[in-house]
Amino acid sequence: MNVPAYGLPTDVKFCKECVMPSTRPSSTNEYQHHTRHKHKYLEFGEDGVCSACKFCKAKFDGRIDWNKREQELKDLLDKYRSKDGKYDILVPGSGGKDSAYASHVLKYKYGMHPLTVTWSPHLYTDIGWHNFENWIHVGGFDNYLFTPNGKIHRMMTRNAFLNLLHPFQPFIIGQKTFAVKMAVKFGIPLIFYGENPGEFGANVSIDQNKFTSDPRENEGYRLQYVTGKNLNEVYLGGTPVQQYLDEGIALGDLDPYFPANPEDVEKLKLEFHYLGYYLNWHPHNTYYYAAEHTGFQAAPERTPGTYSKYNSLDDRIDDFFYYTTFIKFGYGRTTHDAAYEIRHDIITRDEGVALVKRFDGEFPKRHFKDFLEYTSLTEEKFWETVDTFRDPSIWTKENGEWKLRYQVS
Ligand SMILES: [Zn+2]
Repeated sequence: MNVPAYGLPTDVKFCKECVMPSTRPSSTNEYQHHTRHKHKYLEFGEDGVCSACKFCKAKFDGRIDWNKREQELKDLLDKYRSKDGKYDILVPGSGGKDSAYASHVLKYKYGMHPLTVTWSPHLYTDIGWHNFENWIHVGGFDNYLFTPNGKIHRMMTRNAFLNLLHPFQPFIIGQKTFAVKMAVKFGIPLIFYGENPGEFGANVSIDQNKFTSDPRENEGYRLQYVTGKNLNEVYLGGTPVQQYLDEGIALGDLDPYFPANPEDVEKLKLEFHYLGYYLNWHPHNTYYYAAEHTGFQAAPERTPGTYSKYNSLDDRIDDFFYYTTFIKFGYGRTTHDAAYEIRHDIITRDEGVALVKRFDGEFPKRHFKDFLEYTSLTEEKFWETVDTFRDPSIWTKENGEWKLRYQVS
Protein backbone atom coordinates (compact mmCIF):
# COMPACT_ATOMS: atom_id res chain seq x y z
CA MET A 1 0.00 0.00 0.00
CA ASN A 2 1.25 3.44 -0.82
CA VAL A 3 -0.02 6.46 1.06
CA PRO A 4 1.78 9.37 -0.55
CA ALA A 5 0.02 11.64 -2.97
CA TYR A 6 2.32 14.58 -2.79
CA GLY A 7 2.27 15.37 -6.47
CA LEU A 8 6.04 14.86 -6.64
CA PRO A 9 7.56 16.16 -9.88
CA THR A 10 7.58 13.19 -12.26
CA ASP A 11 10.84 14.11 -13.91
CA VAL A 12 13.31 14.55 -11.05
CA LYS A 13 16.21 16.83 -11.87
CA PHE A 14 19.05 18.29 -9.83
CA CYS A 15 20.18 21.87 -9.73
CA LYS A 16 23.19 22.48 -11.96
CA GLU A 17 24.89 24.62 -9.32
CA CYS A 18 24.02 22.98 -5.99
CA VAL A 19 22.84 19.39 -5.37
CA MET A 20 19.18 20.04 -4.57
CA PRO A 21 16.57 17.96 -6.43
CA SER A 22 13.32 19.29 -7.83
CA THR A 23 11.49 17.22 -5.18
CA ARG A 24 12.32 19.73 -2.45
CA PRO A 25 8.97 20.95 -1.09
CA SER A 26 8.30 24.59 -0.31
CA SER A 27 7.01 25.42 3.12
CA THR A 28 3.26 25.03 3.47
CA ASN A 29 0.56 26.13 5.84
CA GLU A 30 0.86 23.49 8.53
CA TYR A 31 -2.78 23.78 9.65
CA GLN A 32 -3.85 22.50 6.23
CA HIS A 33 -1.29 19.74 6.21
CA HIS A 34 -2.88 16.30 6.09
CA THR A 35 -2.27 13.00 4.37
CA ARG A 36 -3.52 13.93 0.91
CA HIS A 37 -2.02 17.38 1.00
CA LYS A 38 -0.23 18.44 -2.20
CA HIS A 39 3.04 20.29 -1.91
CA LYS A 40 4.66 22.93 -4.05
CA TYR A 41 8.24 22.32 -5.07
CA LEU A 42 11.50 24.16 -5.53
CA GLU A 43 11.51 26.24 -8.69
CA PHE A 44 14.15 25.96 -11.40
CA GLY A 45 15.05 28.45 -14.10
CA GLU A 46 15.42 27.55 -17.79
CA ASP A 47 19.15 27.39 -17.09
CA GLY A 48 18.64 24.46 -14.68
CA VAL A 49 19.55 26.52 -11.63
CA CYS A 50 17.30 26.47 -8.56
CA SER A 51 15.76 29.57 -7.04
CA ALA A 52 17.78 29.16 -3.82
CA CYS A 53 21.06 29.33 -5.78
CA LYS A 54 19.84 32.38 -7.67
CA PHE A 55 18.87 34.02 -4.40
CA CYS A 56 22.25 33.33 -2.79
CA LYS A 57 24.18 34.40 -5.86
CA ALA A 58 22.52 37.80 -5.61
CA LYS A 59 24.03 38.18 -2.15
CA PHE A 60 27.56 38.04 -3.49
CA ASP A 61 27.57 39.33 -7.06
CA GLY A 62 27.59 43.03 -6.23
CA ARG A 63 23.94 43.58 -7.02
CA ILE A 64 23.19 44.46 -3.42
CA ASP A 65 24.70 47.48 -1.73
CA TRP A 66 25.27 45.98 1.71
CA ASN A 67 26.26 49.32 3.24
CA LYS A 68 22.94 50.72 2.16
CA ARG A 69 21.18 47.70 3.57
CA GLU A 70 22.92 48.14 6.92
CA GLN A 71 21.84 51.77 6.96
CA GLU A 72 18.26 50.60 6.36
CA LEU A 73 18.65 48.35 9.39
CA LYS A 74 19.92 51.20 11.55
CA ASP A 75 17.04 53.42 10.45
CA LEU A 76 14.52 50.71 11.23
CA LEU A 77 16.01 49.99 14.65
CA ASP A 78 16.15 53.71 15.49
CA LYS A 79 12.41 53.77 14.99
CA TYR A 80 11.81 50.93 17.41
CA ARG A 81 14.57 51.31 20.02
CA SER A 82 13.19 51.89 23.51
CA LYS A 83 14.48 54.83 25.54
CA ASP A 84 13.93 53.26 28.94
CA GLY A 85 15.47 49.84 28.27
CA LYS A 86 12.16 48.01 27.85
CA TYR A 87 12.15 45.09 25.41
CA ASP A 88 11.88 46.51 21.92
CA ILE A 89 12.58 43.49 19.74
CA LEU A 90 11.91 39.79 20.03
CA VAL A 91 14.38 37.18 18.79
CA PRO A 92 13.15 33.58 18.72
CA GLY A 93 15.82 30.91 18.78
CA SER A 94 17.51 27.95 20.39
CA GLY A 95 20.98 29.33 21.00
CA GLY A 96 22.29 27.73 17.83
CA LYS A 97 24.82 29.74 15.85
CA ASP A 98 22.28 31.75 13.86
CA SER A 99 19.96 32.89 16.65
CA ALA A 100 22.99 33.52 18.87
CA TYR A 101 24.53 35.74 16.21
CA ALA A 102 21.29 37.59 15.41
CA SER A 103 20.40 38.35 19.01
CA HIS A 104 23.96 39.33 19.91
CA VAL A 105 24.56 41.82 17.11
CA LEU A 106 21.10 43.35 17.62
CA LYS A 107 21.82 43.91 21.29
CA TYR A 108 25.52 44.62 21.49
CA LYS A 109 26.22 46.19 18.12
CA TYR A 110 22.96 48.00 17.38
CA GLY A 111 21.89 48.78 20.93
CA MET A 112 18.52 47.05 20.98
CA HIS A 113 16.91 45.43 24.02
CA PRO A 114 15.93 41.98 22.79
CA LEU A 115 13.80 39.46 24.57
CA THR A 116 14.81 36.00 23.39
CA VAL A 117 12.23 33.23 23.42
CA THR A 118 12.62 29.50 22.94
CA TRP A 119 10.13 26.75 22.23
CA SER A 120 11.82 23.73 23.77
CA PRO A 121 13.09 20.88 21.60
CA HIS A 122 11.23 17.57 22.07
CA LEU A 123 14.27 16.04 23.76
CA TYR A 124 17.34 18.17 24.40
CA THR A 125 20.73 16.81 23.43
CA ASP A 126 23.61 17.52 25.83
CA ILE A 127 25.30 19.84 23.35
CA GLY A 128 21.99 21.60 22.60
CA TRP A 129 21.33 22.29 26.27
CA HIS A 130 24.91 23.47 26.75
CA ASN A 131 24.63 25.90 23.82
CA PHE A 132 21.25 27.13 25.01
CA GLU A 133 22.61 27.86 28.50
CA ASN A 134 25.71 29.54 27.11
CA TRP A 135 23.63 31.72 24.82
CA ILE A 136 21.87 33.12 27.89
CA HIS A 137 24.66 32.93 30.47
CA VAL A 138 27.67 33.86 28.34
CA GLY A 139 25.92 35.84 25.60
CA GLY A 140 23.89 37.80 28.12
CA PHE A 141 20.15 37.79 27.35
CA ASP A 142 16.78 37.50 29.01
CA ASN A 143 14.98 34.41 27.80
CA TYR A 144 11.67 32.64 28.15
CA LEU A 145 11.86 28.92 27.57
CA PHE A 146 8.51 27.26 26.93
CA THR A 147 8.11 23.50 27.28
CA PRO A 148 4.77 22.21 26.03
CA ASN A 149 2.74 19.60 27.91
CA GLY A 150 4.68 16.40 27.23
CA LYS A 151 1.64 14.13 27.05
CA ILE A 152 0.03 16.28 24.34
CA HIS A 153 3.27 16.97 22.50
CA ARG A 154 4.26 13.30 22.42
CA MET A 155 0.85 12.27 21.13
CA MET A 156 0.87 14.96 18.46
CA THR A 157 4.39 14.01 17.41
CA ARG A 158 3.28 10.40 17.11
CA ASN A 159 0.27 11.45 15.01
CA ALA A 160 2.49 13.63 12.83
CA PHE A 161 4.78 10.66 12.25
CA LEU A 162 1.97 8.20 11.48
CA ASN A 163 -0.17 10.60 9.39
CA LEU A 164 2.47 12.68 7.64
CA LEU A 165 5.81 11.00 8.32
CA HIS A 166 6.71 14.41 9.71
CA PRO A 167 7.54 14.00 13.42
CA PHE A 168 8.91 17.54 13.63
CA GLN A 169 5.68 19.25 12.66
CA PRO A 170 4.36 19.95 16.19
CA PHE A 171 7.67 21.61 17.01
CA ILE A 172 7.56 23.73 13.84
CA ILE A 173 4.02 24.88 14.57
CA GLY A 174 4.81 25.55 18.21
CA GLN A 175 7.88 27.65 17.67
CA LYS A 176 6.13 29.84 15.08
CA THR A 177 3.07 30.51 17.22
CA PHE A 178 5.03 30.96 20.44
CA ALA A 179 7.14 33.85 19.15
CA VAL A 180 4.08 35.81 18.00
CA LYS A 181 2.21 35.19 21.24
CA MET A 182 5.14 36.36 23.33
CA ALA A 183 5.45 39.49 21.20
CA VAL A 184 1.78 40.20 21.87
CA LYS A 185 2.13 39.46 25.58
CA PHE A 186 5.01 41.88 26.01
CA GLY A 187 3.78 44.44 23.48
CA ILE A 188 6.89 44.04 21.31
CA PRO A 189 6.04 45.07 17.72
CA LEU A 190 9.17 43.74 16.03
CA ILE A 191 10.29 40.13 15.56
CA PHE A 192 13.67 39.40 14.03
CA TYR A 193 14.61 36.08 12.52
CA GLY A 194 18.01 35.23 11.12
CA GLU A 195 18.54 33.73 7.68
CA ASN A 196 16.28 34.79 4.89
CA PRO A 197 14.03 31.85 3.84
CA GLY A 198 14.83 32.68 0.22
CA GLU A 199 18.28 31.18 0.80
CA PHE A 200 16.58 27.80 1.00
CA GLY A 201 14.27 28.26 -1.97
CA ALA A 202 11.22 29.94 -0.44
CA ASN A 203 9.40 32.16 -2.87
CA VAL A 204 10.80 35.42 -1.52
CA SER A 205 12.31 38.28 -3.49
CA ILE A 206 15.84 39.28 -2.59
CA ASP A 207 14.39 42.79 -2.14
CA GLN A 208 11.68 41.85 0.32
CA ASN A 209 12.57 43.15 3.75
CA LYS A 210 9.53 42.54 5.88
CA PHE A 211 6.78 40.07 6.42
CA THR A 212 3.55 41.55 7.72
CA SER A 213 0.65 39.73 9.30
CA ASP A 214 -1.27 39.86 6.03
CA PRO A 215 -2.09 36.21 5.30
CA ARG A 216 -2.09 36.86 1.56
CA GLU A 217 1.64 37.38 1.76
CA ASN A 218 4.19 34.61 2.08
CA GLU A 219 1.98 31.62 2.41
CA GLY A 220 3.76 29.08 4.53
CA TYR A 221 5.68 31.71 6.46
CA ARG A 222 2.50 33.32 7.64
CA LEU A 223 0.38 31.28 9.94
CA GLN A 224 -3.11 31.44 8.60
CA TYR A 225 -5.39 32.21 11.47
CA VAL A 226 -7.62 29.36 12.46
CA THR A 227 -10.22 31.42 14.32
CA GLY A 228 -13.74 30.84 13.07
CA LYS A 229 -12.76 27.78 11.06
CA ASN A 230 -14.50 24.45 11.32
CA LEU A 231 -12.31 22.40 13.67
CA ASN A 232 -12.65 19.46 11.31
CA GLU A 233 -10.69 21.48 8.76
CA VAL A 234 -7.82 22.49 11.00
CA TYR A 235 -5.16 19.85 11.43
CA LEU A 236 -2.48 19.29 14.05
CA GLY A 237 -0.11 16.44 13.34
CA GLY A 238 -2.34 15.59 10.36
CA THR A 239 -5.29 14.89 12.71
CA PRO A 240 -8.33 17.22 12.73
CA VAL A 241 -8.60 19.28 15.90
CA GLN A 242 -12.15 17.98 16.37
CA GLN A 243 -10.79 14.47 16.72
CA TYR A 244 -8.56 15.48 19.64
CA LEU A 245 -11.61 17.01 21.32
CA ASP A 246 -13.67 13.87 20.66
CA GLU A 247 -10.94 11.88 22.37
CA GLY A 248 -11.36 13.98 25.51
CA ILE A 249 -8.55 16.51 25.12
CA ALA A 250 -9.51 20.02 26.20
CA LEU A 251 -9.27 22.82 23.65
CA GLY A 252 -7.10 24.69 26.13
CA ASP A 253 -4.52 21.90 26.03
CA LEU A 254 -4.11 22.55 22.30
CA ASP A 255 -3.79 26.29 22.74
CA PRO A 256 0.03 26.41 22.45
CA TYR A 257 -0.36 25.15 18.86
CA PHE A 258 -2.85 27.79 17.77
CA PRO A 259 -1.80 31.17 16.40
CA ALA A 260 -2.19 34.38 18.35
CA ASN A 261 -5.45 36.28 18.22
CA PRO A 262 -5.39 38.16 14.90
CA GLU A 263 -6.89 41.30 16.45
CA ASP A 264 -4.06 41.49 18.97
CA VAL A 265 -1.52 41.09 16.19
CA GLU A 266 -3.22 43.82 14.13
CA LYS A 267 -3.31 46.18 17.08
CA LEU A 268 0.38 45.70 17.78
CA LYS A 269 1.22 46.34 14.09
CA LEU A 270 3.59 43.43 14.41
CA GLU A 271 6.32 43.15 11.80
CA PHE A 272 8.65 40.25 11.03
CA HIS A 273 12.07 40.89 9.59
CA TYR A 274 15.00 38.73 8.61
CA LEU A 275 18.42 39.95 9.59
CA GLY A 276 19.66 38.14 6.49
CA TYR A 277 18.02 40.84 4.39
CA TYR A 278 20.11 43.58 6.03
CA LEU A 279 23.42 41.84 6.71
CA ASN A 280 25.17 39.50 4.32
CA TRP A 281 24.60 36.15 5.98
CA HIS A 282 27.35 33.56 5.86
CA PRO A 283 27.23 30.34 7.93
CA HIS A 284 30.95 30.46 8.77
CA ASN A 285 30.70 34.02 10.03
CA THR A 286 27.76 33.26 12.29
CA TYR A 287 29.56 30.18 13.60
CA TYR A 288 32.77 32.01 14.48
CA TYR A 289 30.85 34.95 15.87
CA ALA A 290 28.68 32.75 18.12
CA ALA A 291 31.71 30.74 19.27
CA GLU A 292 33.44 33.95 20.31
CA HIS A 293 30.53 35.83 21.86
CA THR A 294 28.03 33.29 23.20
CA GLY A 295 30.19 30.25 23.91
CA PHE A 296 28.63 28.26 21.07
CA GLN A 297 30.24 24.87 20.46
CA ALA A 298 29.99 22.53 17.50
CA ALA A 299 29.05 18.92 18.28
CA PRO A 300 31.94 16.62 19.21
CA GLU A 301 30.95 14.17 16.48
CA ARG A 302 29.57 14.29 12.96
CA THR A 303 25.76 14.43 12.83
CA PRO A 304 24.36 11.15 11.37
CA GLY A 305 23.03 11.59 7.85
CA THR A 306 25.44 14.41 7.08
CA TYR A 307 29.03 15.55 7.38
CA SER A 308 28.47 18.71 9.40
CA LYS A 309 28.77 19.34 13.12
CA TYR A 310 27.28 22.74 13.74
CA ASN A 311 23.72 22.83 12.35
CA SER A 312 20.53 21.99 14.27
CA LEU A 313 22.14 20.21 17.20
CA ASP A 314 19.68 20.60 20.01
CA ASP A 315 16.92 18.02 19.52
CA ARG A 316 17.28 14.25 19.56
CA ILE A 317 14.15 14.02 17.37
CA ASP A 318 15.73 16.26 14.71
CA ASP A 319 17.68 13.36 13.17
CA PHE A 320 14.31 11.83 12.27
CA PHE A 321 13.03 15.01 10.70
CA TYR A 322 15.80 14.76 8.12
CA TYR A 323 15.52 10.99 7.79
CA THR A 324 11.78 11.17 7.05
CA THR A 325 12.41 13.96 4.51
CA PHE A 326 14.78 11.56 2.79
CA ILE A 327 12.05 8.89 2.63
CA LYS A 328 9.33 11.23 1.36
CA PHE A 329 11.26 13.43 -1.03
CA GLY A 330 14.41 11.48 -1.82
CA TYR A 331 16.95 13.87 -0.37
CA GLY A 332 18.42 13.99 3.12
CA ARG A 333 20.43 16.07 5.48
CA THR A 334 23.67 15.94 3.49
CA THR A 335 21.91 17.35 0.43
CA HIS A 336 20.45 20.11 2.57
CA ASP A 337 23.81 21.02 4.14
CA ALA A 338 25.88 20.60 0.98
CA ALA A 339 23.50 22.69 -1.16
CA TYR A 340 23.72 25.51 1.35
CA GLU A 341 27.52 25.31 1.63
CA ILE A 342 27.94 25.21 -2.16
CA ARG A 343 25.83 28.37 -2.42
CA HIS A 344 28.18 30.00 0.07
CA ASP A 345 31.38 28.85 -1.61
CA ILE A 346 32.44 26.67 1.30
CA ILE A 347 32.58 23.48 -0.77
CA THR A 348 32.50 22.84 -4.51
CA ARG A 349 29.67 21.07 -6.28
CA ASP A 350 31.90 18.02 -6.89
CA GLU A 351 32.66 17.80 -3.19
CA GLY A 352 28.95 18.15 -2.49
CA VAL A 353 28.09 15.29 -4.85
CA ALA A 354 30.67 13.05 -3.19
CA LEU A 355 29.36 13.89 0.29
CA VAL A 356 25.76 13.20 -0.77
CA LYS A 357 26.77 9.81 -2.16
CA ARG A 358 28.60 8.99 1.04
CA PHE A 359 26.23 10.18 3.79
CA ASP A 360 22.77 11.10 2.49
CA GLY A 361 19.99 8.97 3.95
CA GLU A 362 22.23 7.35 6.55
CA PHE A 363 19.95 6.02 9.29
CA PRO A 364 20.38 7.96 12.58
CA LYS A 365 20.82 5.02 14.93
CA ARG A 366 22.06 7.03 17.89
CA HIS A 367 18.65 8.34 19.03
CA PHE A 368 16.41 5.61 17.62
CA LYS A 369 15.53 4.16 21.03
CA ASP A 370 14.67 7.63 22.36
CA PHE A 371 12.50 8.30 19.33
CA LEU A 372 10.53 5.07 19.71
CA GLU A 373 10.04 5.67 23.43
CA TYR A 374 8.97 9.27 22.91
CA THR A 375 6.37 8.36 20.29
CA SER A 376 5.35 5.04 21.88
CA LEU A 377 6.06 3.18 18.67
CA THR A 378 7.50 -0.27 18.14
CA GLU A 379 10.38 -0.75 15.76
CA GLU A 380 8.08 -2.79 13.48
CA LYS A 381 5.48 -0.01 13.35
CA PHE A 382 8.23 2.54 12.64
CA TRP A 383 9.51 0.66 9.57
CA GLU A 384 6.06 -0.29 8.36
CA THR A 385 5.07 3.39 8.44
CA VAL A 386 8.29 4.54 6.77
CA ASP A 387 7.75 2.10 3.89
CA THR A 388 4.19 3.27 3.21
CA PHE A 389 5.55 6.78 2.58
CA ARG A 390 7.99 5.76 -0.14
CA ASP A 391 6.64 7.17 -3.37
CA PRO A 392 7.15 4.63 -6.20
CA SER A 393 8.07 7.48 -8.53
CA ILE A 394 11.32 7.94 -6.60
CA TRP A 395 11.84 4.56 -4.86
CA THR A 396 12.29 1.09 -6.22
CA LYS A 397 12.99 -2.22 -4.49
CA GLU A 398 15.92 -4.22 -5.82
CA ASN A 399 16.80 -7.62 -4.33
CA GLY A 400 14.81 -6.75 -1.21
CA GLU A 401 16.50 -3.36 -0.76
CA TRP A 402 15.03 0.08 -1.27
CA LYS A 403 16.91 2.22 -3.76
CA LEU A 404 16.34 5.74 -5.02
CA ARG A 405 15.66 5.89 -8.73
CA TYR A 406 17.61 9.15 -9.04
CA GLN A 407 21.08 10.06 -7.86
CA VAL A 408 22.81 13.38 -8.10
CA SER A 409 25.90 13.41 -10.30
ZN1 LIG B 1 20.69 25.18 -6.59
